[in-house]
Amino acid sequence: MGLAGRAALFVAALLLLTAAMATATVWYGAERESERHQHIVARDLTTRFAETVASMINDGYGAVLPSMLERMAARDDIRRLSLRDRQGRIIAEQGDNPEDVGVSTQLASRVNASGHAEVLRSAKRWLAVGAPLVLNGQRVGVAVIIWPPNQFRLDALLALAPLFLFLGCFTLAAIPVAVHFVRKAIAPLDELTRFAEKVAQHGGAAPLILRTGDEFETLAGAFNQMIGRLDASTRRIQEIAFIDPVTQLPNQDWFLRDVDFRLLQAKAPAEAGAVFVFEFQRLAKIMPTLDPEAARDLIKAAAGRLVGATRTVDRAVRSQTIGDDRAAATARFGAFEFAVYAPAITSPADAARFGQHLTVALNQPFDWRGHKLSLGACCGVAMAQREGKGADAIVRHARVALCAAQTAPTRVKVFTQSLDREAIARVTLEREMRGALERNEFRAYFQPKINLATGRIEGAEALARWVRPDRTIIGPQRFIPLAEESGLIGPLSDAIMLDACWKAAGWARKGMPVKMAVNVSALQFRDDRFADHVLQIVQRAGLPPSSLELEITESVAMEDPARALRLIAPLRAAGVRLAIDDFGCGHSSLAALSKLPFDVIKIDQQFIRALDRGDAQAEVIIELILALAGKLNLEVVAEGVERREHADFMAARGCHWVQGFLYGAAVSAADFSEMLRKQAGEGSASAHAA
Ligand code: C2E
Ligand code: CA
Ligand code: CA
Repeated sequence: MGLAGRAALFVAALLLLTAAMATATVWYGAERESERHQHIVARDLTTRFAETVASMINDGYGAVLPSMLERMAARDDIRRLSLRDRQGRIIAEQGDNPEDVGVSTQLASRVNASGHAEVLRSAKRWLAVGAPLVLNGQRVGVAVIIWPPNQFRLDALLALAPLFLFLGCFTLAAIPVAVHFVRKAIAPLDELTRFAEKVAQHGGAAPLILRTGDEFETLAGAFNQMIGRLDASTRRIQEIAFIDPVTQLPNQDWFLRDVDFRLLQAKAPAEAGAVFVFEFQRLAKIMPTLDPEAARDLIKAAAGRLVGATRTVDRAVRSQTIGDDRAAATARFGAFEFAVYAPAITSPADAARFGQHLTVALNQPFDWRGHKLSLGACCGVAMAQREGKGADAIVRHARVALCAAQTAPTRVKVFTQSLDREAIARVTLEREMRGALERNEFRAYFQPKINLATGRIEGAEALARWVRPDRTIIGPQRFIPLAEESGLIGPLSDAIMLDACWKAAGWARKGMPVKMAVNVSALQFRDDRFADHVLQIVQRAGLPPSSLELEITESVAMEDPARALRLIAPLRAAGVRLAIDDFGCGHSSLAALSKLPFDVIKIDQQFIRALDRGDAQAEVIIELILALAGKLNLEVVAEGVERREHADFMAARGCHWVQGFLYGAAVSAADFSEMLRKQAGEGSASAHAA
C-alpha cells in the first residue's frame, strides 16, 4: 500500500472514531435526560394522585376509592395503585403483579419515614413512586403508583436519530473525500518517489515536471538540477575515461570495449576483422626536443594523418556493399602508439596488405610548421577471432607483432604463434637478466689489444659476459639487444664499466697499466647526463680518466653529430679517449667524421675478413682509412686479427693497434691479469738478459 493509501486509511479511521465518540456521548446524555424526565413526571402525577385521594376522603367520597383504584389499575399504563396507612397497612391496593406488593410496602415505609415523595426504579426499568397522603395538614398514609417500564420516557434518542444519521452519512461521505484530498495532496510525493526510484535503477530519466506551486515543485526542480549535474558529470567522467584529450580519439579502454562489442555482433568468423597497432618511432625521437604546446600539436597532426590514411585505405578495401558500421575505427593507445580496427578485413594476407598500405602512407614525409617530418611508423597486425580471444588478447598479439615489425624490412608484421613464442622467450630472458643483475652475474671479460710499435699488450677491450651460476657463459649478442629494448642496458653498462675501470685501476697499481676500452650503447648515448655518469664511475674506481677509452659505434655518433659533440666535450676535457667502433660499416661521410673529436678509429672486422678473400677494394679502403687517420692525427685499431698476415699487413701500413684471436679472445679478469703478469715477467727477464 502506498503512502497515500495509508494516509487515507488513517484519516478514515480517525473520522470513524470521532463519529463513534460523538454518538456515544450524545446517547449517554439523552439516556440521562430521559430518566430525569421520567422521575419528575412520575413524582408529579403520584403527588397529585395523593392529593386527589386526600380530598376525596375529606369530601366524604372515601367509599368510591376502591372502585376508582380498580379502574385506574386496569389501565395499561399503570401496574399497581396502593393506599397505605401510617403503619404501612393496606387501605386499598390494585394491580396484577403480586411481586409488586413488596415494592409498595418498601416505598410506603420509606415515605412514612422521610415525609416526602420517594422514587424507586427496578432493574427491569419499571418505576415506583410513593407520595404522602396529607389530610388537614396531617400525614395519614401513603399513596403508591407503580409504572410499567418506559412510561414517560422522553424519546430524545429518537429525536437525535437524524443527527446520528447525518453524522454517519457525513463520516461515510468524508472517507472518500478525505482519501481524495490526501491522495491529491501527496500525489507529487508519489511522483517524486517513482522518479527517484527510476533514477536509482537506470541512472537517468527525463526531467520531472511538477506544477504544484509549493515545496514539491521546488523539490522537483532541485531533483532535475541534480540529475542534470549527475548526467553532465557522468558524461565528463566517460570522456576522461575513454577519450584521449589531445587527439580526441578514443583511448585503449574504449577501443577494447568497441572491438569486443563488434566481435559479439559479427555473424561469421570472417567478419571478425583485424587489429593494427602502430608505433611512431620518429615521433618518439622528435618529441623530447619540442615544448609541450608544439608536442601536442605534432601528436594531433600525427593522429590526423592516421585518421586520414585509415579512411582512404579502408574505403579502397571495402566494397560498396559493406555498410558504414563496418568502417575502420582508430584510437590512441599511448604517447606514440595508435591502433586501428578494420572489421572488413577477412584474411591475414589482406591484413598484411592493409597494414602495408597504411604504413607506407603514414611514412610519407609531411610538412609540419615548416619542417619535413616522417612518423617512422611500424605496424603489428593480429587477426581478430570471433570466438575465444577477446580484444585484450588480440591487441596483445598485435603488439607482439609490432615488436617484430620494428626490425622487419617492410616495418609490418602479422602475428603468428612463433612470434609469440619468441616474445615469451624474450620476456623470460628479461626476467632472468634482472635476477642476474642483482646477483652480479654480468662481468667484464678482457680482450688484449697489442701496440704494434712495442708488440706488447698495452690495452684491453672490456666485453660483457653473463657468467651463470653453473659457469656457462653467455655472450653479449644474446642479451645486449634485449637489454637495450627493456631499458636494462643502463644498469648493465654501469656494472661492466665499473668492473672494467676497477680492474684497470688495480692492474695499474700493480705496475701493469692498460688502456681500458669500454663499449657504449646507443641508449646510453641518448642520456644527457652521460658524461657526468661516466666520470663518476671512473672516479669511484680510482682510474685516471686518460686510461679510459669509450667505444662508440659510427652509426650512434653520426646520428646527431652536433649532439655527440656536446655530449663528448666534458669527457674530452677530463682526458677520456674516444674511439669510433666498427668504422666502415656505416655510411657516414669522412668530412662529417673529421668534425668529431675522436682519438681512435677501430676498423671493422669485415675488412680484415675481406683481406682473406683477396678483396682488393677492402685493401684500398683500409689504406684510405689509415691515410685519413694519419691526417686527422687519429690512432687506428684493427679488429678481428686472427692471422699473422693480418697483423703484418696492418703494421706495414702504419696501424697502431691490433686485437683479435691471434693474440687472444676475451678472457676473465683473473686470466687477463695472469697474461699481464707473464708479460711483465718476460719484460723484466729480457731486461735482465740485456
Ligand atoms: P664489438 O665492440 O665490435 O666487439 C668485438 C667483438 O668481436 C667481440 O664479440 C669480440 O669477442 C669479437 N672478436 C674479437 N676478436 C675477434 C676475432 O679475431 N675474430 C672474431 N671473429 N671475433 C673477434 P663479443 O664479445 O661477442 O661482443 C659483441 C658485441 O657486443 C661487441 O662488438 C659490442 O658491440 C657488444 N658488446 C660487448 N660488450 C659490451 C658492453 O659492455 N656494452 C655494450 N654496449 N656493448 C657490448
Ligand atoms: Ca667494441
Ligand atoms: Ca667493433
